[in-house]
Amino acid sequence: MRMSKTEFIKMTRRPTLHLMATMACNLRCSYCPVKNWLLKDPTDELLSDPNLIELFDNAKEPYYIYLGGGEPLLSPELPHLMQSYGPKRHRFTFDTNGAFNRKKLAKILDQIDSEWFGYFDISHHIDQKVPLKTIIGTCEEFRSRGINHFVKYIGRPSDMTQIDENIKTLEENEIGTWVSLYMGPDSKIGGDIISNRTLPGDYTDDEIKR
Ligand code: SF4
Repeated sequence: MRMSKTEFIKMTRRPTLHLMATMACNLRCSYCPVKNWLLKDPTDELLSDPNLIELFDNAKEPYYIYLGGGEPLLSPELPHLMQSYGPKRHRFTFDTNGAFNRKKLAKILDQIDSEWFGYFDISHHIDQKVPLKTIIGTCEEFRSRGINHFVKYIGRPSDMTQIDENIKTLEENEIGTWVSLYMGPDSKIGGDIISNRTLPGDYTDDEIKR
């Protein structure tokens, strides 16, 4: 069942663990902050690290766990971790790229009780040519299981027309969205160099006009 607003606020006030679930990813974004360490196969064992397990075993109250990566849903250790600690009221939120074949996604989710999820923050990497219909399919799979989710765009000003069109379609499908302009010194997205953009105010009004 979908989490109420009150439950959501309570969850985000818990002690938080921000974890890398795996260094494997099914995408290769040019602006990826961890691209030099990405793996093709999820052969790492980050979620069974003894220090992490000790932390969970000794927890005095349930954690709010934010899982990123890489692509956290690719971790083969994920179902076991959630089956072990979900029943102890720990709740798991994901930063996912949502770029999954729906059957593959369903197979992963089938191993996990939907009650143990916080929400899914789906980054639609349009630079990677992930089709919008794939993202909508991912959202529909979450919705069918009562799992909270929304779609996030990280774009450069020149992406805004495409982002606006996507947002319109997502909103027609009753999917929540938000947009974040990319920031970071000397950064490159899809061949465009965006430098010295470390604060929202570094973009001009014309660049972010919608
Ligand atoms: S989806 Fe995320 S982790 Fe994967 S390559 Fe892109 S930015 Fe990096």
